[in-house]
Amino acid sequence: MIIVTRKGVTQEELDHIRERVEAAGLRTHVSRGEHRTIVGCVGDEERLQNIPLLSFPGVEAVHPVLKPYKLASREFAAEATRVPLGEAELGGEEVVVIAGPCSVEGLDMLRSTARCVAEAGARALRGGAFKPRTSPYSFRGMGQEGLEILAQVRSETGLPVVTEVMDTRLVELVASYADVLQVGARNMQNFALLTEVGRLRRPVLLKRGMSATIKDLLLAAEYVMSQGNPNVILCERGIRTFETATRNTFDLAAIPVLKRETHLPVIADPSHAGGARGLVEPLSYAAVAAGADGLMIEVHPDPECATSDGEQSLDFGEFQALMRGVRPFVEAVRRTLAAEREAARV
Ligand code: PEP
Ligand code: MN
Repeated sequence: MIIVTRKGVTQEELDHIRERVEAAGLRTHVSRGEHRTIVGCVGDEERLQNIPLLSFPGVEAVHPVLKPYKLASREFAAEATRVPLGEAELGGEEVVVIAGPCSVEGLDMLRSTARCVAEAGARALRGGAFKPRTSPYSFRGMGQEGLEILAQVRSETGLPVVTEVMDTRLVELVASYADVLQVGARNMQNFALLTEVGRLRRPVLLKRGMSATIKDLLLAAEYVMSQGNPNVILCERGIRTFETATRNTFDLAAIPVLKRETHLPVIADPSHAGGARGLVEPLSYAAVAAGADGLMIEVHPDPECATSDGEQSLDFGEFQALMRGVRPFVEAVRRTLAAEREAARV
């Protein structure tokens, strides 16, 4: 349930509303917007039945939230959530690009990739140190050494780093290096992991599971948020269907549906969605046109030699071309893209 307060509601009035709701055994979340403040209530709403909330000073309206996700639902927040990412933020006017290799393979390759993507306008560096691989015999990442390389390259370039955490036992370790914790498609419903990353304040990039509905994704976000972490970024990365011509089926419509359903930022990962380098550019354009707040793109200095996902990774020239090509789409939806930077500044 949400309680919409009147313009100019006082702190005392807000405190009083919250005290009464909490005394009935529900939790409250205050969301302050430029024009209004909302008190979201989570718990057994039956218990509020005998409290005449509408007559409380400062209360304008009381609405039920019929969706199963509450904290993640659009109604629960007075405005769109903005998640900080280095000098940028996701969910604002800017379309934020995160780029880097599928896996961290060494210092030199990560450094050169970071420089290339930063110069082209990316705002964050991605790279897996712990990799979820379908086969246990595939390269499974450099582990802690990979995290150290990410931190080293961040200190040289200033780019914040996004990296995956797969195991509850490693959340603390990964969080001590990462600026954003990625929860991958295969772990979207690992509820123990969602709970653990929810205990931190570090932003969480939550990728849609391969067979997860949009509702499942929002309920996974709710897990994280219900632990107290409001900084969730949702990522559409393709789902599994009967189609075999692409690695996954990019669910383009999920982007505007998510933007309608939630106040959280929504990004797209065209690399995993299409699974082929030739599809990354058109899918990126489509995602931006559909309202995505950002893109996550796999880039490798030599995709042919990549230890994972080489077939869908762009080389430096292709990434630069993508960044130039996406700009008119960004402008068409009246948003901004970071400018290309001078090499010397990176
Ligand atoms: C990745 O980002 O490299 C990754 C493994 O993605 P997903 O979890 O979407 O498959
Ligand atoms: Mn990958």
